Amino acid sequence: MKVAKFGGSSVANATQIKKVCSIIKEDIERKFVVVSAPGKRYKEDTKMTDLLIKLGEAYYDNADYEIILYQIVERFKEIIQELALPNSLLEEIQQTLLNVLHQKENDAIKMDALKSIGEDSSAKIVSAYLTNLGLHARYMNPRDAGILVSDEPGNAQILPESFENLFLLRNTDEIIVIPGFFGYTNDGKLVTFSRGGSDITGSIVAAGIRADLYENFTDVDSVYTVNPSIVDHPKEIRTLTYKEMRELSYAGFSVFHDEALIPAFKQRIPVAVKNTNNPHLPGTYIIAQKEEKDKCVVGIASDTGFSTLYVSKYLMNRELGFGRKLLEILEDEAISFEHVPSGIDDLSVIIRERQFTPEKEVKVINRIKQELHPDTVTLQHGLALIMIVGEGMMNTIGIAQKATSALTAANVNIKMINQGSSDVSMMFGIDANDLNQAIQSLYGIFFEEK
Ligand code: ASP
Repeated sequence: MKVAKFGGSSVANATQIKKVCSIIKEDIERKFVVVSAPGKRYKEDTKMTDLLIKLGEAYYDNADYEIILYQIVERFKEIIQELALPNSLLEEIQQTLLNVLHQKENDAIKMDALKSIGEDSSAKIVSAYLTNLGLHARYMNPRDAGILVSDEPGNAQILPESFENLFLLRNTDEIIVIPGFFGYTNDGKLVTFSRGGSDITGSIVAAGIRADLYENFTDVDSVYTVNPSIVDHPKEIRTLTYKEMRELSYAGFSVFHDEALIPAFKQRIPVAVKNTNNPHLPGTYIIAQKEEKDKCVVGIASDTGFSTLYVSKYLMNRELGFGRKLLEILEDEAISFEHVPSGIDDLSVIIRERQFTPEKEVKVINRIKQELHPDTVTLQHGLALIMIVGEGMMNTIGIAQKATSALTAANVNIKMINQGSSDVSMMFGIDANDLNQAIQSLYGIFFEEK
């Protein structure tokens, strides 16, 4: 049994939905389908989820929301008409939109309910079209599928009992179409996962029903060794391990939501990344363990938007509780950290830049000065992180040397190296302005040289 998840571009319009349905029809093992909301049809287009958020915001601000509502309804209308589905489906979607807009709930709950309408409507449309094709398909609301989540609007976490609930659906003889991106709290509130969270639903459903394969259909032929917007036509990756994928998606590989694979990973369910527009290509397989470790570096990921909080103090290594106190200050200010490379007398904390406001920045620095009496404390923005990822890398001689020589050849200054705790990645911090030449040079040395 397979779970097939289709991303936003796969359900962006009627033509794409037809492709989705023929993919489902082609393989009787595709019993569970999870869908995103309609995504972008062209580069400047707006995703349905973003339109729904705009609608909610306009409504709260007492601005003119009717025009956005009209845009949303028109988009669904176009899809429904082109698929020759009954008009009652459009009326149902329209009614749901109005009901949610006018419901008396707090803003966060209402916003989540609005956001969910994108995937919810996609699922209804796909299931209706599958039925028209003569298949036994059924839309299933996440509530009926037993997808229970924590009460954290916009950032729900799955509750463990969901997996047992989903397991009960396993023996279905119908095709079950479930909207991605949201679940329900124990007291019945609709709450969404973080953005891109339909991948989370897909992986939860795959884990719950113990699928033999979780297929994630997107608009790329495979996962690439490096970001194709930095290197032209990079090599494709055929197989990856979960650990490798997790590290790659953390650092900017946007194929997956970075937490999405965890449920599938725990059940050791293989994942296939495939293209809705080229479904017969092999795609990329993500598995628990690779047999052959022929090439130890599988991919190079990178992301920008990091800051370095640098603190130095003579004899820091002997000062009991220094690290804890520093991290406690960040905790008090609700700032999470990514990495903490350290030396004898100094410590850097790598933090996502977006967590700082100018006021927070001043407050954090002042508190560190007053409470920890350091010799130096600075906060620098504009850091990019590069991750060189591959299992087996740590047991291979010369990887760091190869990487640093590629960076030297590109005339890139390395601000930080971190190869501490992860055995599948090596991380470099550089100035974000140097990112493209750094990646191109690393790609050359790891993937183009014989
Ligand atoms: N539609 C949601 C978003 O745009 C979730 C998803 O597509 O995975 O974030």
